[in-house]
Amino acid sequence: MTPTRLHAVASSPRAVLQPEVGEVLVGADELQRRVSELGEEISRDYAGRSLLLVGVLKGAMFFLSDLMRFIEIPVEVDFMAVASYGSATDSSGVVRILKDLDVAIEGRDVLIVEDIVDSGLTLQYLMRNLGSRNPRSLAVCALLTKPERRKVDLPTRYVGFEIPDRFVVGYGLDYEERHRNLPFVAVLDR
Ligand code: 5GP
Repeated sequence: MTPTRLHAVASSPRAVLQPEVGEVLVGADELQRRVSELGEEISRDYAGRSLLLVGVLKGAMFFLSDLMRFIEIPVEVDFMAVASYGSATDSSGVVRILKDLDVAIEGRDVLIVEDIVDSGLTLQYLMRNLGSRNPRSLAVCALLTKPERRKVDLPTRYVGFEIPDRFVVGYGLDYEERHRNLPFVAVLDR
């Protein structure tokens, strides 16, 4: 199943209250529809196995909790928190682990659940780090990707939406810790 490619934008219903919140790129209904498709696809692909979801804090929290509800095979969840050195909008690829997994992943089927793949540097670090712990399989499920910004080639097995090169907030994604609570994904207007 190919990710939905987005170009069209609509105005945000909260733009008046929060001027930083610009056009809506992915509406709430569209998010739920695509997340349910991803859950079904993952359930089919891992049928007969059990899966460990690794949520990357904090951005993936809404996506992960919605996705889990659409997965029909046995599933466990753990979290990692990472900080990427760089500016508020550009990661450098130098990643620091703020919170590591609670469980060992050797021999497990592991699916990293990410909010957004931008340059791909954070994910590259996570893939190498978790890959060195000898999981049975390791794959990635990202809600959003920005193909134009990619610096490293990464196998991202599941992708929700391909978006243009814009900085987005909402549905878990923040700008300086704000706007995570928006039920849609919108462009940040600065
Ligand atoms: P990368 O290492 O792929 O360049 O960056 C990945 C991380 O940067 C994401 O997990 C996310 O935390 C942050 N990021 C990249 N693009 C965006 C964006 O458009 N909006 C927000 N809120 N965070 C982003």
